[in-house]
Amino acid sequence: MKVPKEINTYCPRCRAYTLHTVSIYKKGKDRVLAEGARRYQMKQKGYGGQKKPIQRRTAKVTKKQTLKLRCKECGYIIHREGIRLRKLEVVS
Ligand SMILES: [Zn+2]
Repeated sequence: MKVPKEINTYCPRCRAYTLHTVSIYKKGKDRVLAEGARRYQMKQKGYGGQKKPIQRRTAKVTKKQTLKLRCKECGYIIHREGIRLRKLEVVS
């Protein structure tokens, strides 16, 4: 699916319809000291090899992609959850 670079949509901070710049949301880096990561590190220690299953194959062939909309007036960012798509691109 193709998405325009700028769209006019509602901004909750301005409480009005304003122009927003569109970009695609990307996952941030995992924290090394997050609780889950620490627990996994503890579990992996010692004898016994791999302790938790590694996911090698997923059932789905597509991903739900999220759009990041930034208000041009106030800079407020809203995330718009997408539908399952093979390809999502921002076109000018
Ligand atoms: Zn705004």
